[in-house]
Amino acid sequence: MTDNVHQGHRARKRFGQNFLHDPQVIGRIVKAIAPKPGQTLVEIGPGLGALTEPVVEAAGHLIVIELDRDLAQRLSEHPQLADKLTIHQADAMKFDFNSLLKDGQKLKVFGNLPYNVSTPLLFHLFSYADQIENMHFMLQKEVVQRMTASHGSKAYGRLSVMTQYYCQAMPVVEVGPGAFKPAPKVDSAVVRLIPKAIAQRADVPAEVLNRVCLEAFNQRRKTIRNCFSNIATAEQLEQLGLNPTLRPEQLTVEQFVQLAQWLHQQES
Ligand code: SAM
Repeated sequence: MTDNVHQGHRARKRFGQNFLHDPQVIGRIVKAIAPKPGQTLVEIGPGLGALTEPVVEAAGHLIVIELDRDLAQRLSEHPQLADKLTIHQADAMKFDFNSLLKDGQKLKVFGNLPYNVSTPLLFHLFSYADQIENMHFMLQKEVVQRMTASHGSKAYGRLSVMTQYYCQAMPVVEVGPGAFKPAPKVDSAVVRLIPKAIAQRADVPAEVLNRVCLEAFNQRRKTIRNCFSNIATAEQLEQLGLNPTLRPEQLTVEQFVQLAQWLHQQES
């Protein structure tokens, strides 16, 4: 059997399929998720069920969203799991997570995400931040480093600002390639994301904040006076308390949000 075939299923690259098989790693991730009966738990990309099985065992019920028709079918025929799962054969990037809300209970979302689509998938999930209690995702380690990076560090960029605007983000488990079949070429890590209550967040449209980040980090070596020349003059930056000679990675998340709010006001 080749490395690409796991439990009789040939891993599909286009769906970012790398299946977890290390029981110790699986145990640590499930412990971080801390599933309990009565919670509305949602798994993205259950695949062959490496995380699904232990989570269902602890929680009794689980909603799963799987894009691969064959894998969704397999789960629906699984003798121990099928009647404890609500299976959506769907693209999580287009999925309406509001449709899963029940009795005012927030969602706990987790998954070993397909790395090829992790950023757009995260941005889609951030738009449901107010409906989510927490999220645990396995991602490329470098992506977790970018999500959790502080201003002033090399890894700090658009993903750090967008993530930290919506959530508190912390790395919880590091995972080497050997824990997966087939083994990916990169190291992985699990990140815990706890959405900030809306009252803790300055209100700004995601699209405007994203646009400010794109202007900033497309040219990170320039000063913000130059990066933001399409958005604000040096005088306007100064009026906002931002020194125009700073580089974009020196601005805090709050300063990005402040600039986005100001821009939104100018435009509306
Ligand atoms: N959870 C399994 C594990 O840990 O072994 C599989 C993880 S594998 C890295 C990613 C899974 O996400 C695959 O089952 C893949 O088919 C599924 N997937 C890929 N793109 C998806 C999408 N857009 N929406 C939902 N599931 C997706």
